[in-house]
Amino acid sequence: MTDVAGNAIVLRYSQSLGIPPLDTSRTPEGRNMALLADPPQVQPIVVKPLRDGGAFDAYGRQMSYLRISLTDRCNFRCVYCMPAVGMKFQPRDELLTDDELIRAVGLFARVGFTKLRLTGGEPTIRPHLVDLVRAMKSFPGIEEISMTTNALLLSRIAGDLKAAGLDRINVSLDTLDSDRFKLMTRGGRLDLVWAGLEAADSVGLRPIKINSVIVRGHNDHEVCDLAGLTLERDWQMRFLEIMPMEGVGTVYDEGLVTSSETQERLEEHFGALQPIDTPPGDPARVWRIPGARGTVGFISPISAPFCANCNRVRLTADGKLRLCLLRSDEVELRDLMRAGATDAILEQQLRAGIWRKPWGHGIAEGDRNTVRGMSQIGG
Ligand code: SAM
Ligand code: SF4
Repeated sequence: MTDVAGNAIVLRYSQSLGIPPLDTSRTPEGRNMALLADPPQVQPIVVKPLRDGGAFDAYGRQMSYLRISLTDRCNFRCVYCMPAVGMKFQPRDELLTDDELIRAVGLFARVGFTKLRLTGGEPTIRPHLVDLVRAMKSFPGIEEISMTTNALLLSRIAGDLKAAGLDRINVSLDTLDSDRFKLMTRGGRLDLVWAGLEAADSVGLRPIKINSVIVRGHNDHEVCDLAGLTLERDWQMRFLEIMPMEGVGTVYDEGLVTSSETQERLEEHFGALQPIDTPPGDPARVWRIPGARGTVGFISPISAPFCANCNRVRLTADGKLRLCLLRSDEVELRDLMRAGATDAILEQQLRAGIWRKPWGHGIAEGDRNTVRGMSQIGG
């Protein structure tokens, strides 16, 4: 058979499968050479199923990114995250042990998760953090581990974390003024955080992203200084809209600054920002100040929720699968493990839970997450 240009279609097709072309000549006795030759060695074709065993929800979204809260405790008390006093932490025996955590990560890897983010609370205060990173990175399929940290303790351990397999970090930094930093974190030291950030940069925990929650009356007048960091450094400065979380009073109702307001402020100062393409799972809309080395990002859970591209679920410090940051639906894993559940049962529980992941957070309609604070869920 030939195509319109007269090329042999069958020949081309067989070559594309790795089959050598047939010898169509004949022996002097008239026998077909192709029948005398050794049968061609054909490599098996690997047919990838349409849905390759990954964990899907009922909307067809595949979950591949797990955010793990390593602890609900923290060495700061940021105004938008925890109350100044009276924060209640869970008894230690209610938190996942190292072995339970590693087992859970292995199960997530089995159902197709490729990316992990360690968070909290403050992940750097979890004992054995370096060993945990090493163990998590050893699972086949886990391609990337990142961490969100306040960086207070990072300068001491950045090198060990990198060596154990941590790939990159996000550092929370809401202000460049050390007095305001002390106020917003209720006691934090900006100089130590900055040392942590530079240590991470120098050991290669990159690309570095900085998260700033913009709160009216606290740091909204500083957005140009924060964005200005990207002029000289190839960091990504991300502005987050504050979310209403349990335990922080009226700070959300009084403090919300939308991303479009922040962007307008930046454009008044720096001129029009240039849009940058981002991968579909990235919740940030990313831009560049003209001529800057780094980029700025806007994360807008309130004004522009990114539910359609959501590929993430969370594992709380006490071992619940949290399906959406801002919805209270959770799936029990810790108690099943402690009751002796097999991996097969846990995997079934994971898949069934993910299937019922909700869509939309309903904040605009007045819904509030009233069960847990951000530090317990793992923001
Ligand atoms: N302690 C680490 C840190 O601060 O980077 C990790 C945990 S913290 C809960 C994770 C992220 O959640 C931080 O970037 C923090 O700024 C953000 N966050 C906390 N409370 C928030 C809120 N009410 N609205 C928006 N982001 C919040
Ligand atoms: Fe701690 Fe992070 Fe919450 Fe601040 S945002 S109180 S550093 S957990």
